[in-house]
Amino acid sequence: MIIILVGYFYKSVYFAVSVVFGGFSPIRAPGYGWTKGRCFELSRVPDYISGILRTLETAGFQALLVGGCLRDMLLDRPIHDWDIATSARSQDIISLFPKTVRTGERFGTVMVVNGEGTAEVTTFRSDGAYSDGRRPDSVAFVSDLYEDLKRRDFTINAMALGEDGALVDPYGGREDLERQVIRCVGDPASRFSEDALRMFRALRFSAQLGFEIDADTRAAIEKCAGLCAALSAERVRDETEKILLSERPERAGTALSLELYQGRIKDGALTDGKLRRLAALPKEAGLRWCAFCALLFAENLIHSPSDFLREMRLDTKTVRDGAAGVKAAQEPLPESWTDIKRLLAKQGIQAVRCAAAAEKALRDTNALETVSDVLESGECFSVRQLAITGDDLMEYGFKKGIILGNTLKALLAYVIENPQDNRRKLLIELAQEIRL
Ligand code: ATP
Ligand code: MG
Repeated sequence: MIIILVGYFYKSVYFAVSVVFGGFSPIRAPGYGWTKGRCFELSRVPDYISGILRTLETAGFQALLVGGCLRDMLLDRPIHDWDIATSARSQDIISLFPKTVRTGERFGTVMVVNGEGTAEVTTFRSDGAYSDGRRPDSVAFVSDLYEDLKRRDFTINAMALGEDGALVDPYGGREDLERQVIRCVGDPASRFSEDALRMFRALRFSAQLGFEIDADTRAAIEKCAGLCAALSAERVRDETEKILLSERPERAGTALSLELYQGRIKDGALTDGKLRRLAALPKEAGLRWCAFCALLFAENLIHSPSDFLREMRLDTKTVRDGAAGVKAAQEPLPESWTDIKRLLAKQGIQAVRCAAAAEKALRDTNALETVSDVLESGECFSVRQLAITGDDLMEYGFKKGIILGNTLKALLAYVIENPQDNRRKLLIELAQEIRL
């Protein structure tokens, strides 16, 4: 007990001193001497994550935060998932925590579930040969953290942080974060030959973080781009979607110029300025895919929007609304509220929003804002929003069938033009007149 209390006292003093003296606090990087730097924001680590690290350590294993959570913590960006690397094997992890899910046993990953959240806990591993350019043929579990960091893609993703605040950074990831560069761990061309997706990931991180790609890494992308032909459409889709949803969607154009879309998009280029317009769209995948597709179609870089979206393995609704949106945006969208409501009635909400997003990319209009205003106004553009239903009309002697359907359609056409008249009594009178 006394030892624990003294331990915590020591730790508190250490961090208080680190915070106060910021730039002078030594951060221990095991095996690599002492580095100078500011105190790491361990306060951002939720208690349940520290708890998982401590449980593993108390059981005699090494356990450290790795990958995206550490990178984003050092950059003070939002953290969306927690990855822990450990010397413990899957069986040890499962026996140490009450609730676990085997998420990637072949790769040594177990998800630890806690009332407050989850963490992906992965045994230190080194990857075997990559014969398909996608996944290692085999993985070997190792006891050395450095072996594990060596298999990671970029220096900024190849650091580890222990619960004691010691940063393990063998490849200069911290410095690259400060210089804002994406640089491969090891020889870039060999790393891309192992897994071609890393080329897309380089573009994706540069889009999300606003970092430049280091010259050697970029030169290797130019050399190895052809290897992307072997990638599965799903993996290319996921990385492309992250680029499109980032603050810098124009990096999808860089990926295109670097010829990463082997066989999926024709060789060519998109101007940065037009792609940059996507950043003004809501962060919705469907809208951004449609806008991207509209630009590709306009430059004749794809044959058919629906085929392209389908080949990128997007879901049926995204394909349908995206393709309808690109088609509708071939002509300028109407500006009047009445015409927009007519279009909403005909095409449905999402197809019209997609068309407006495509128009933003093509002609930089504010159609999406107008469509949003129309939608927010609550004005009627569908039979469902009419102040009367088919059942109401049946009470007034209408019989189920074509006449009833056509009457409702006629009422809708009237209400679209006269939104103030969407009132039950008035519509019933009108329906009776129409019938006469
Ligand atoms: P984010 O989750 O924000 O998209 P991330 O860096 O956490 O970014 P993940 O795909 O979750 O990315 O992967 C977690 C970590 O695993 C990475 O930080 C990197 O260290 C390693 N990693 C992931 N994919 C690869 C890969 N294809 N090649 C080498 N290392 C990889
Ligand atoms: Mg992650």
